[in-house]
Amino acid sequence: VIQLFIPLNFLGFVYREIRRALTDMNRMFGLLNIRPKVQDAADASELQVGSPSVRFDNVQFGYHDDRRILNGVSFEIPAGKTVAVVGASGAGKSTLARLLFRFYDPDAGGILIDGKDLRGFSQASLRAAIAVVPQDTVLFNDTLFYNLQYGRPGASRDEVEQAARLAHLESFIAQLPQGYDTPVGERGLKLSGGEKQRVAIARALLKNPAILIFDEATSSLDSVSERAILAAIEEVAARRTTLVIAHRLSTITHADEIVVLDQGRVIERGRHEQLLAAGGAYAGLWRLQQSERSDPIHPPSLQP
Ligand code: ADP
Ligand code: MG
Repeated sequence: VIQLFIPLNFLGFVYREIRRALTDMNRMFGLLNIRPKVQDAADASELQVGSPSVRFDNVQFGYHDDRRILNGVSFEIPAGKTVAVVGASGAGKSTLARLLFRFYDPDAGGILIDGKDLRGFSQASLRAAIAVVPQDTVLFNDTLFYNLQYGRPGASRDEVEQAARLAHLESFIAQLPQGYDTPVGERGLKLSGGEKQRVAIARALLKNPAILIFDEATSSLDSVSERAILAAIEEVAARRTTLVIAHRLSTITHADEIVVLDQGRVIERGRHEQLLAAGGAYAGLWRLQQSERSDPIHPPSLQP
């Protein structure tokens, strides 16, 4: 019994640490109890990129065989540019992010990074090259410093502080009695949605990724917080290959291209002004959100 006890105790420790890391990933993507089936190819290479292009090439995908979620999606994010994907809830937007992060592989078609199918890269190097700013940021029951540094464990104090500055968190931290050492999370200081999102942006900055994904990163914010977040996002996204999944169209009017997704298909694409002039689905959504914006009873969003 004693001989068994020590290893089990140790395993328990390892298990808790792994769970802690996985929880963030899973909650980030809204995944529950899903075991990724993806595996590194035998000859997988290390993804080494400065500012890569990303191309979805006729991607078809379903979580289960009986229901197709993406029906041949194609679009490209040129190196260093920002492409926004918009569309109703359930259209398949977050699924695109999950495939780019390779939680799943497409059933047909592929995703190319600098022209090379991402299945040819090791998962570790692929995921190291991508940072995700999710809708709901998970905070650990630890200090604010730990929670920021989580973006790149081992980052120095200076680097963490610089990321916090760029994420517009400086004045918030300055007014905390314990500053960076303030305990946060469920058992500590509760951060607002906007503050948590800025923590996520600071983490992304620390990770210093080649590819950035924002998945509805401003959807739950009031318009003052939204403006602060947008300023921070612009800071991070500059010169990086960025996929913005948006739900408030007001946040993506400056994107290099906007892709409108409907039931797993691209139904429109173009710049904001072009899509408004075209008078199609995007123009309709825009009008709807503009009217909701001036209606104080209904929040300005597509989803409840
Ligand atoms: P969006 O981000 O545009 O709201 P998602 O990409 O999250 O949409 O989901 C697209 C569709 O796939 C939805 O109908 C959703 O219910 C379904 N879906 C999402 N995740 C899973 C999953 N893990 N298993 C099965 N179906 C899923
Ligand atoms: Mg989504």
